[in-house]
Amino acid sequence: MPVRKRPAALKLADYYMGRDRLHRDELTRELRANARETLRRVNNLLRRAGIMCKVTSGWRPAAINAAVPGAAKNSKHLHCVAVDLEDRSGTLDAWCMENLDALEELGLWLEHPAATPGWCHLQIQPPRSGSRVFNP
Ligand SMILES: [Zn+2]
Repeated sequence: MPVRKRPAALKLADYYMGRDRLHRDELTRELRANARETLRRVNNLLRRAGIMCKVTSGWRPAAINAAVPGAAKNSKHLHCVAVDLEDRSGTLDAWCMENLDALEELGLWLEHPAATPGWCHLQIQPPRSGSRVFNP
C-alpha cells in the first residue's frame, strides 16, 4: 500500500515560541483557545496544500508586538488569531491565492502576498474590509 507523506502539524509550542513561559500572565484562557483554533485551521490548510512550514511569528505578547518593526498596534498576533509562516519561495502564498475556496471553507484570511515577502500571514478573523485577501 502506498504511504502518503503528511506534513508535520504545527504544535502549540511552535506557536507560543517560549513566550507562554515568559509572559504567562498575559496568556489567558481565551487566548489559549484562540491559539488552538488558529493551529487547527492552519494545519488543515497545510495538509491540503501538502506544504510544510515553520512558524516565524505566532503569539506576540504586548511588549514583543511593540518591538516588531511595522507591526500593527492591534495586531491579530496579540490575540492568538494570526500566524506568520516561513514562505521564502512564495509557494504557500501562491497556493492560497489559487485556492481561495479552501481558505473560505476553513475560515482563514490572507494578508496580500505583495505585503508579506518571504512569509505568509494567515488569520482566523476577517479584517475590517472583510476581504479574503487583504492589505495591511
Ligand atoms: Zn502576521
